[in-house]
Amino acid sequence: MFRTLRTAMRDTPLSAAQIEVLAKANQMASAGNAAGAAPLFAEVAHELDAPRPRRAANLHARAAHAYADAGRPQLALEQARAALNLFIQYQMADRTPVFYANITRKFNNKGMTGAATAIQNEFGGKVGSLPVPSQAPARPAAKRGVLPTNCPKCGGPIHSDSISWVDNQTVECEYCGALIRSTPNR
Ligand SMILES: [Zn+2]
Repeated sequence: MFRTLRTAMRDTPLSAAQIEVLAKANQMASAGNAAGAAPLFAEVAHELDAPRPRRAANLHARAAHAYADAGRPQLALEQARAALNLFIQYQMADRTPVFYANITRKFNNKGMTGAATAIQNEFGGKVGSLPVPSQAPARPAAKRGVLPTNCPKCGGPIHSDSISWVDNQTVECEYCGALIRSTPNR
């Protein structure tokens, strides 16, 4: 009797307050206010470190990008380290090399070469020795319908390369865990 309840609750681990903070952060980020968004992403990420480390990792990654966009290399570096440590610890083989490459490129593009070098020195070897992610054949898009570009609950972007399908019509938001239904193709 309780198992059903627990299973249902497993996918809604964020509090209403955390969802609210995330929604605000995503609004700020898409309005170009990276300096406002970054600490909000970092705050929720930190709260989720222990209870939901995979979601925390994705949020640390958002915080790292936002701090870099806001011109704060030291804070960005701290968040990038937190993200990569969790990605590697929890063997998130698809996310690790993508985030590593993107954040290193961003640091270099913004002239934050110290942060780029630190990430490369600390994580380059670990990322390079990860097993190559298995490329599961994508199911035909026609069967799965069209997803919104952002999570309706927290506003987080829905990345086609890192979504996890729950069933043929449903994905789970990688940030807040909301279940998002796709719209059938016409
Ligand atoms: Zn969400």
